[in-house]
Amino acid sequence: MLPYVSNQRLRLSPSRVSEFENCPQLYKYRVIDQLPQPPSLDAERGTLVHTILHDLFENPAAQRTPQSAIDLLPSRWRAQMQAKPELIEMVTNEKEWLDRASSLLQTYFTLEDPTAFEPTHREIHLENDLSPEIYLHGYVDRLDVAPTGEVRIVDYKTGKAPKPGWEEKALFQLRVYALLYLKTHAVVPRLLQLIYLGDAKTVKSTPTVSDLESTEKTLRRIAKDIEESVEKDYWPPKPSRLCDWCYFKSICPAHNS
Ligand code: SF4
Repeated sequence: MLPYVSNQRLRLSPSRVSEFENCPQLYKYRVIDQLPQPPSLDAERGTLVHTILHDLFENPAAQRTPQSAIDLLPSRWRAQMQAKPELIEMVTNEKEWLDRASSLLQTYFTLEDPTAFEPTHREIHLENDLSPEIYLHGYVDRLDVAPTGEVRIVDYKTGKAPKPGWEEKALFQLRVYALLYLKTHAVVPRLLQLIYLGDAKTVKSTPTVSDLESTEKTLRRIAKDIEESVEKDYWPPKPSRLCDWCYFKSICPAHNS
């Protein structure tokens, strides 16, 4: 069965977990049925900006300037189009597209000074067997270890920060990474930081051991729910405002009864 890795361990990641929590029917379309989906322009813009923020740190500290980030845009965009030629037709106004990416990159420099630190890891893959039945993994945009040993986990978002009261939900992804880091390095990260380039805001949190224990409990509960759905082949649709962006709306039973 596809949500599993070898020897029937359930494969969990923050994105799979939130997909199932948001709508089990959507999880089924994507993970169980593996239905193809066309690229989303928002996601592709996010990929482009992430690539540049990754590659920016290849430069010596003094050269990590807004202009050097913007200078990376043409070549990284060309590479992305070569990898996904369908983007050429999807992006109808290339200038507007690149201007938007450029504006997001400039916003980054209002929130962090990349000349002032050296990242320890970029796009690091963390993984752990949470139990013999659950394999948990995720890709962290950036992980910085200070000379004093304190760890900061950073994730870039090209959208806007959550409204007040919704920060905890947004932080779940970083708590999963923090839990993975704790399991693999026996260290509780000191700071979790979400950087929202869409509206120049950051959301920060200092996780405690008890936060991470509670994250682990939530993951185990969701793993059990997924196992039950697989056993019963029961994937209830959960309509929400996300349906307006859902590619599968035209075949979803919630909208076609
Ligand atoms: S349209 Fe809505 S309810 Fe249906 S699969 Fe998509 S997100 Fe779920």
